[in-house]
Amino acid sequence: MSSLSFRKLVVVRCRPLSRREETAGCENILEVDDKLGQITIRNPKAPPDEPMKVFTFDSVYGWNSKQRDIYDDAVRPLVESVLHGFNGTIFAYGQTGTGKTYTMQGLSKDPEKRGVIPNSFEHIFTQISRSQNQKYLVRSSYLEIYQEEIRDLLCKDNNKKLELKENPDYGIYVKDLSSVVTKNATEIEHVMNIGNQSRSVGFTNMNERSSRSHAIFLVTVECSERGPDGEDHIRVGKLNMVDLAGSERQSKTGAKGKRLKEAAKINLSLSALGNVISALVDGRSTHVPYRDSKLTRLLQDSLGGNAKTVMIAAVGPAHKSFNETLATLRYASRAK
Ligand code: ADP
Ligand code: MG
Repeated sequence: MSSLSFRKLVVVRCRPLSRREETAGCENILEVDDKLGQITIRNPKAPPDEPMKVFTFDSVYGWNSKQRDIYDDAVRPLVESVLHGFNGTIFAYGQTGTGKTYTMQGLSKDPEKRGVIPNSFEHIFTQISRSQNQKYLVRSSYLEIYQEEIRDLLCKDNNKKLELKENPDYGIYVKDLSSVVTKNATEIEHVMNIGNQSRSVGFTNMNERSSRSHAIFLVTVECSERGPDGEDHIRVGKLNMVDLAGSERQSKTGAKGKRLKEAAKINLSLSALGNVISALVDGRSTHVPYRDSKLTRLLQDSLGGNAKTVMIAAVGPAHKSFNETLATLRYASRAK
């Protein structure tokens, strides 16, 4: 175990009421105070004198927050440290429909609406173009964990299940995972789009798949620099950007058979992630249960130690999601 304290940020983002929710007359049960970093949730069924629950986080972002704000405050320092050879992981956690994919990918047509992933590409290549004495190699991979099975989103034969391996030199890696060298932000964005197309295969719609699988975009930044000793020194940083499966309790949705088994595995990996993070937060745990899921195992060297972690919990304001929203705020609170 490392003696370093766990370097992490936990932030919550609340999306606006959707048009459909507005039309249906949904009540807003959340209040976001970005100055205090507090979010207040009201139980729509509680008597009026019941005190509301208040949660405090490193930052909170309300319905009109900008993609740029989230990038600049919460993500930029992590990507900066990846450029210096450290590992980092950004998670988007939350119920389906709360804005995880919007936060991570955003809408590509409007530059203001680009999410964490494209903003990180731009940041990385801008930094590289300004560097003078370093040479960089940027590689990217895109994979999905569905039902505890790993699939390569950049490989034509994407039904192949890949294995996690461990090597004393590189640590944990995915055997045979495609890795594409990219030279600029446009190229790497193209890689993301190819992977996104492959994600929806076999499902009637993208949301159906994304609500049940974790998508991990991995960027590896290798930097070589001539040292005063005349030798080249190489440092490698890994950036993992994870759009997690929907956190809604699937068993409640009347799932049976295959669906129920699937639900159990999603719940398992999200709770395994919660357990790993809380063991790291606690700092006194001698055992961090990385091995409890493929997700935590894969991210083992990017969670804890020298690595930085940002958890972005996404929530919606509508009263009908009260239970799930409260569950998300509690999950995020445990990671603080
Ligand atoms: P998830 O990935 O968590 O299932 P999505 O990212 O697909 O959720 O978001 C659901 C819908 O809400 C999408 O139509 C998305 O464009 C919209 N949305 C999410 N977050 C925001 C936001 N902060 N501002 C405006 N629209 C948002
Ligand atoms: Mg999504």
